[in-house]
Amino acid sequence: MKANIHPEYKETTISCACGNVFEIGSTRSDIRVEICSHCHPFFTGKQKLLDTAGRIERFRKKYEKFNKEKSES
Ligand SMILES: [Zn+2]
Repeated sequence: MKANIHPEYKETTISCACGNVFEIGSTRSDIRVEICSHCHPFFTGKQKLLDTAGRIERFRKKYEKFNKEKSES
């Protein structure tokens, strides 16, 4: 019998650089991000389309990394 092979899943607070804080379920704790759905230009539409494209790519890469770390732990 294997015990404790699953990481603990709990409520986690994510703090964004814009000041927005929201909660998700995660195995990580105290996550900090620079961009969230409230301040990301893709959602706010406040920035030029050209600049937005590069930021979306960074946003995706950031969350690919999160998912990778989650599956490895
Ligand atoms: Zn934000």
